[in-house]
This record gives sequence, structure tokens and C-alpha cells, in this order.
Amino acid sequence: MMRRSGSFPMRARNGSVAAGRKPGALLKSFLAERGRSYRKGMSSPLDGARSCSRISAHLALGCLSMRETYQAALRAQLRWRAADAVAFAQSLGSFSSRLHWRCHFMQKLEDEPELQGRELHSAYAGLRPVGPQHEELVAAWAEGRTGFPFVDACMRSLRATGWLNFRMRSMVMAFSSYHLWQDWRRPAQELARLFTDFEPGIHYPQAQMQSGVTGVNLARIYNPVKQSRDQDPAGVFLRRWVPELAGLPDDFIHEPWRAPRDYLLRHGVELGITYPARLVDHESAARQAREAIYGVRRGDAYFDAAREIQHKHGSRKAGLPPTAKPRARRKARPAQSTFEF
Ligand SMILES: Cc1cc2nc3c(=O)[nH]c(=O)nc-3n(C[C@H](O)[C@H](O)[C@H](O)COP(=O)(O)OP(=O)(O)OC[C@H]3O[C@@H](n4cnc5c(N)ncnc54)[C@H](O)[C@@H]3O)c2cc1C
Repeated sequence: MMRRSGSFPMRARNGSVAAGRKPGALLKSFLAERGRSYRKGMSSPLDGARSCSRISAHLALGCLSMRETYQAALRAQLRWRAADAVAFAQSLGSFSSRLHWRCHFMQKLEDEPELQGRELHSAYAGLRPVGPQHEELVAAWAEGRTGFPFVDACMRSLRATGWLNFRMRSMVMAFSSYHLWQDWRRPAQELARLFTDFEPGIHYPQAQMQSGVTGVNLARIYNPVKQSRDQDPAGVFLRRWVPELAGLPDDFIHEPWRAPRDYLLRHGVELGITYPARLVDHESAARQAREAIYGVRRGDAYFDAAREIQHKHGSRKAGLPPTAKPRARRKARPAQSTFEF
């Protein structure tokens, strides 16, 4: 039975689908209609807020149980399949997979609660510097003042609504970890404060994955300009959350530093004055980060530890990893988890 008592006071605006909706009604509207565009819309900064289920805060706070959610999703999937709505049924299949991921992640932290504070793979401990000298960078990132419009729009939208879709969470975490080279703990702490759905069991393993410190996942370094162009080509989301740039034509709104100074001035923008100059050159920062992350991946001890992690925490779908030592050719790469996050 879905609990009917009361509604969760979600922050409004971008979060309007979820604002004030009772958990059961929110799930129902997703399974009956909104979930139709789940696969297509989940990563979009514009459609994601409506196409995703938006039940995360209710699961985190216990207003919805995993069992009732999963069973309702399976029933809806069967119904849509019987009605020949194949795409809708497939979308709900993707949704059910994510419910599995949730349990998988929570189990990881349950098994090893220390993962909240230390890297899954110890070779990454101390890789990035920590200390009060980084607070300015962390604050600029958390407040949406990095000078990268899409990153800033995501962080400002998160601050206003308490929610971001998965792709945007991954990108902001990765940007902080790779481009700004921040230790994962501080940004993870900032995000935990901002998410209305903060759930340690998902949050810390995800923060580690997006920072490349697990030893069993590929480092995914999102290009913030490409993400911006792909996900918000007409700059609608950018103009909503970074109004300082609203007057810029689409060509330059994704990367204003490419525009000549006179041109920017004619459109009411002065970098460093009306909108921050970018904190780093994202291309060279990404290159350096990649080298540093992959530089750690060498030696028997590294790969032995990676295999142990895969054995304990990895997916069993692809079968258990071999227990014997890897052959020489396989030593070049750590075992990869099979999840397509
Ligand atoms: C750095 C980072 C931190 C995150 N921190 C949290 C957190 O604190 N709390 C939280 O609930 N989710 C977290 N996520 C996972 C995911 O982004 C959210 O679950 C999702 O965006 C919530 O919106 P929704 O309920 O509409 O999700 P939907 O896409 O509708 O998914 C339904 C449910 O499946 C689960 N789920 C979805 N995606 C994932 C995933 N990748 N891993 C594990 N479970 C998933 C969630 O419980 C979610 O409510 C984090 C992701 C990243 C990259």
C-alpha cells in the first residue's frame, strides 16, 4: 500500500512536477504518463525534471518503499506491453534497472561504511591536495561562479530546486574532481547539503565513481562545453539560470570566452565583471587530470587490489571475476564494472 499521509515540501520552480505532490501520486503519474519520455528526456536539463520519476526524496525519506515502487513499476510495464506500447514498457524497464542500482549502491555502503570517507581503491588516497586553500574554488563551484555557463546553470538550478538529473549530477561532480582537481570529499559534502534526496548509500559511491577513485570504473571526464551544446543547444536552460549571459546569441552562450571583448560588450557582457572569467582552461585541465588518474594504474599491487574490489562490489551479471592472477596481457587494465552509469 502506498502511504497517503501528507506531501513533501519540494522546492519549487524547476522542481514543479514534484512540488507538493504526494509520493503515491507522483509515482502514479510517472507510471501512467510521464514515464513515456523517460529514456529520451532523462538527461535533458529541460525535460529531465518532468520525464524522470522524481521519487528519490520520497525513497530517501521512507515515504515510498522500494518494494511498492518496484512492484508498481513491474505491473505498469506489463500493462503497457500488453497494450503494445513497447517504447513505454522499455522506458519502465530502464526505470526498474535504476531501482536495482539503488539497492546495489546502498549494499556497497552497508558492507563497507568507511567508504563514506575513504577511497574504494587505496592507491587514489592523497592524489588530490586538500586544505583550506581550496575553499575558494569549492565555493565558486558550489555557488555557480566557475565561468562555465552550463556548470554554473546546473549548480544554480540545484540550489533553487534541490534536484538535478543524473547526467548533470555526474557532470558537476566530475568537473569539480577533474577540471578543478578537487578531492571528492568536499564537493560531495556540498552536494549532500543541496540534494533534497540525499542518500549516503548512493551519494558517496557515486561521488567516488565520478571522481575516478574506485579502481573499477573508467574515468568519465565530461566536457562542459560539449554537454552544454548537446543538452541545451538553444541555451534555454542557460538563459534561465545564468541571466547575465541571456543577451548573447546561441553561438557564444556556451563558451563566452571565445567571443571578442567588443562583441561581448555590445551584448552586455564583460567577463570578470558581469560574469566570472572561467576558472581553468577546460581542455588542458582535462588532459592533466586524465594523465594523473591513469598514472596511478600501474603495478601488480594496483591491479590485485582492483580485482578484489571488483570481486566484492562489482556486478555479478557478467559472472564472477577469475580468482587466479590476471595474465600479463590483462594486467594493462583494471577489471571494469559492467554498469552503464
Ligand atoms: C554525484 C552523484 C550523487 C548522487 N547522489 C544521490 C543521492 O544522494 N540520492 C539519490 O537518491 N540519488 C543520488 N544520485 C543518483 C541519481 O542522480 C538520482 O537518484 C536521480 O537523479 C533522482 O531522480 P529521480 O528520482 O527522478 O530518478 P529516476 O531516474 O526516476 O530513478 C528512479 C530511482 O532510481 C534510483 N536511481 C536512479 N539513478 C540512480 C543511480 N545512478 N544510482 C543509484 N540509484 C539510482 C533512485 O532511487 C531514483 O529515485 C547521485 C548521482 C550522482 C552522479
